[in-house]
Amino acid sequence: MKPSLTLYLAAPRGFCAGVDRAIKIVEMAIEKWGAPVYVRHEIVHNKYVVDSLRDQGAVFVEELDECPDDRPVIFSAHGVPKSVPAEASRREMIYVDATCPLVSKVHKEAERHSNEGLQMVMIGHAGHPEVLGTMGQLPDGEVLLVETVEDVAKITPRDPDRLAFITQTTLSVDDTAAIVAALQDRFPKIVGPAKEDICYATTNRQASVKAMADQIDALLVIGAPNSSNSRRLVEVGKASGCAYSQLVQRAADIDWRALEGVQTVGVTAGASAPEVLIDEVIDAFRQRYDLTVDQIETAREDIEFKVPRVLREAS
Ligand code: SF4
Repeated sequence: MKPSLTLYLAAPRGFCAGVDRAIKIVEMAIEKWGAPVYVRHEIVHNKYVVDSLRDQGAVFVEELDECPDDRPVIFSAHGVPKSVPAEASRREMIYVDATCPLVSKVHKEAERHSNEGLQMVMIGHAGHPEVLGTMGQLPDGEVLLVETVEDVAKITPRDPDRLAFITQTTLSVDDTAAIVAALQDRFPKIVGPAKEDICYATTNRQASVKAMADQIDALLVIGAPNSSNSRRLVEVGKASGCAYSQLVQRAADIDWRALEGVQTVGVTAGASAPEVLIDEVIDAFRQRYDLTVDQIETAREDIEFKVPRVLREAS
């Protein structure tokens, strides 16, 4: 007889509006211009998504100089430094920007503050493409990066009274609040958004993990190792008291031995993980357990972003 297990599915989970739009952009570009269509950086951080778009005719590269002039190129949902579209224009390439509109909003905030003469402080993870893209909206040296509360003490702004902050969209809500508080403590005149720039999808997915944390023995987060919002979900699970909180790309990654004796499991997915991978994980549990599946819903999402006009127009 199979052991019993209850699987709680977090809601919302998985794809957000920005990821959905970015994937549609690649698919519609292939339909409009034919294959190959080049994509600068993984369109979203998920191997399954990238592999299926590759099968449809997308070619993934890291830099624009790997693309020929005569094929369309798409910029990933994470955003790009200003120099990238400038270079594509110089080479007279067709390009489509799949930057999530919520990331573009942060780009505009940075520019607006900079035009007002404020130096920017960005809260984010060094090297993440979104951070490189946002910092690349302004000239070198104009954006000071802080990753931790400790970093706040280390930065040396031009004028401590003329500062503004922005954040990466996929950070931990709680860690970011602590960094913002440290910034406001050291630089009382710093200006920033009314709420940080963390997007609705990141906030909702973290809240749903917190809501289920005291009912589960273990948490599985479906997502890629380079997906910032997925990794934050694992951390939120641990910080909320879940002793076993693990990132898995798909069912094959589940460490069944580690789950021995567990009676309740929470399952969520980062914003770039498709529902098909969640179904795969549920099926894998069903094969091993007498399974009850329940959903813990903490918010409803009905946000949709339009694709750029060039793709809505007939060829
Ligand atoms: Fe946009 Fe947030 Fe999704 Fe990133 S996680 S693509 S910022 S909605």
